[in-house]
Amino acid sequence: MNDLKPDRVAWLKGAAFNCDSIAVATHSPLRLVLLGAPGAGKGTQAELLSTRLGACHLSTGDIFRTAKLSNYCDRSPAMHEALNSMRRGELVSDEMVLNLVTERSRCLHCRGGFLLDGFPRTVTQAEAFEKVLHENGVTLNAVLNYEMPLEEIVNRLSGRRICPQCKAVFHIVTRPPEMVDVCDHCGAGLIQREDDLPESIRVRMTTHESSAAPLAEFYQRRNLLISISAEGTPEEIYDRTISALRPRI
Ligand code: AMP
Repeated sequence: MNDLKPDRVAWLKGAAFNCDSIAVATHSPLRLVLLGAPGAGKGTQAELLSTRLGACHLSTGDIFRTAKLSNYCDRSPAMHEALNSMRRGELVSDEMVLNLVTERSRCLHCRGGFLLDGFPRTVTQAEAFEKVLHENGVTLNAVLNYEMPLEEIVNRLSGRRICPQCKAVFHIVTRPPEMVDVCDHCGAGLIQREDDLPESIRVRMTTHESSAAPLAEFYQRRNLLISISAEGTPEEIYDRTISALRPRI
């Protein structure tokens, strides 16, 4: 099942690092942006699509979580500031995020394609990203917009647990690991993200609500947006995703 899954080192740690395992090209590269509120299941769908289709899961949040595990003194002042914003549930500056993505533009050429999760988050980021794509001669297949009621999102976020090692995502009720608090894939201890605590969830939802509509509209105008209901099990949402994508891949 994990055969196709790329290791993402170049994305998580930066362009100076090379990925050991790169996707096997079994199809033309799948290049998608995943939109949706925090907790709507973008990360879970990205994991399923990555494992099954080989496209690399490029999460900007995972870049920051990886930096958080690094030695305190090795972090740049900009990264310290970014991690403080993240801890409060606020967005990191557009400039910082755009620098990180531009530095990693090599990942846009990954053989199996890519699944951008958590980026772009603002119209400024989307406009700048459009230029990066153009400069790299890369086009998107689609932008998937996962939709879900607010109350359900709060339930999902507060029960979410993640693996700090391989970044797999679990939920204490809907997707529990086989052993409590232990990752099914690599055996590391699961953790709750600091920004999944109640006060941060509130800030993140407010931030998301102000940026979601303009961003969806940006991609709607480019005829790339596909809205998908994010209710149900991960498998049901995955099936919906594949059906919605079929005409475009
Ligand atoms: P995520 O895992 O996508 O929910 O991201 C976790 C946190 O990382 C966010 O709450 C922000 O603080 C930061 N972050 C991730 N991606 C972005 C982005 N594209 N723009 C600004 N901040 C981001």
